[in-house]
Amino acid sequence: MFQAAVTKYLKRTNHSNLAIKAVLFDMDGVLFDSMPGHAKSWVEAMAAYDLPFTEYEGYLNEGRTGITTVNYGFNKIFQRNATAEEFQGIYALKTALFEKYPKAKRIPFSFELAEKIKAQGLDRLIVTGSGQKSLWGMIESNYPNLFDTSRMVTSLDVTYGKPHPEPYLMGLEKASVEAWEAVVIENAPLGIEAAVAANIFTIAVKTGILEEKVLHDAGADLVFSSMEELYRNWVAFSEKYM
Ligand code: CA
Repeated sequence: MFQAAVTKYLKRTNHSNLAIKAVLFDMDGVLFDSMPGHAKSWVEAMAAYDLPFTEYEGYLNEGRTGITTVNYGFNKIFQRNATAEEFQGIYALKTALFEKYPKAKRIPFSFELAEKIKAQGLDRLIVTGSGQKSLWGMIESNYPNLFDTSRMVTSLDVTYGKPHPEPYLMGLEKASVEAWEAVVIENAPLGIEAAVAANIFTIAVKTGILEEKVLHDAGADLVFSSMEELYRNWVAFSEKYM
């Protein structure tokens, strides 16, 4: 299963080998079970501006920066982008609504996976489209000594954001590795597209309401049905390609 996926990856990227030195982690839906709160707060914030938006759309658009999500909502109904004022209003509301939801917990087995990756001597970096600062503050308390937040890529660092490869290309740069020396762990289609476009081996994990097919169709090199399944297969996969 792994060998076929890697062979396919090498073919699509023209790389001659996969030699893992770093693992780039997405944050929402990979490290934290924060997507239910994000999706619900997007639905409520858009509704306040008469923009119909479903939780499923929240999951489908996951990984976009705030501005592109708001513009998605506006273009669908009004065929135009939001004004700066509209964007600021909706995004401030969305951020405030998100804070009302219970603090997101860790995705089960993400901590154990990150520990295992650290023990293997591999570097670990977070690449997120999020600008939700309350979550950044939770990284060290939930994942002590596992991630260096000073090297994190966030919505503040990027111009385009996912699904553009930019955030993952920036992640490679911050980790000082080439595309064939990294692996991405993602849970959302646009994040998968971004990682694939950056020519990085992309592992998708189903942690939310989107069907596994959606993750396959986005181009993931491997898809796992849960973080636990990835955790249990990680060593068998990674040790062949380190
Ligand atoms: Ca995500």
